[in-house]
Amino acid sequence: MKAQTLYRDRPNGIGIEQIKHAVCGICGRIWNTEKDAEKCCRCLVCQEPLERGDISYHPACRRKQLAEIEAKRRLNARGIPPEHWTGPVFSPQNDEYYENVRDAWDDGATDDGYVYACTIKRGIKIDMEDIAALLEDQLADEESASNLNGWRELKLALGQFMVRNSIHEVWHQDCDVVIEIPAGWGFDEEDEGDE
Ligand SMILES: [Zn+2]
Ligand SMILES: [Zn+2]
Repeated sequence: MKAQTLYRDRPNGIGIEQIKHAVCGICGRIWNTEKDAEKCCRCLVCQEPLERGDISYHPACRRKQLAEIEAKRRLNARGIPPEHWTGPVFSPQNDEYYENVRDAWDDGATDDGYVYACTIKRGIKIDMEDIAALLEDQLADEESASNLNGWRELKLALGQFMVRNSIHEVWHQDCDVVIEIPAGWGFDEEDEGDE
């Protein structure tokens, strides 16, 4: 924002000279060129000066930009009806995950008319080779982790640990599949349930 030129005393002590740097007139940050200093403290979207407290963007410009990115993501995804998806979903409306479309609907997270399907990753994986590498970093050269006391027991215990935690699930939004929720969806089912 409005670059200001920097000057310094000449090395010979006579007068001043311009330094080949420029300072931002707002935040005082020093840039290599006047052009960079002019760009400082301007919105990355509209290039207009930022308000005090804004970081990189005007909040409204950033919101608009994110909305455009989201609209494009939705457009590029394969649309399916709610009946075709029973798994977990992600709602971009409130950045929340739900067990199924119904739960998202109940929470008002489908008001935008869509949610994304989620992929499910089950279990916890610990690789013995990774552990060996970690241990061998602490051993003398040529020494193998598999010769350490209790290596076999550790391997067995880890195997059991993974089996016992195989129920754990992690959901990730799958932005390639969007569940399009027709207007009025959800109410029908609710009515049916009441009858
Ligand atoms: Zn600045
Ligand atoms: Zn802006």
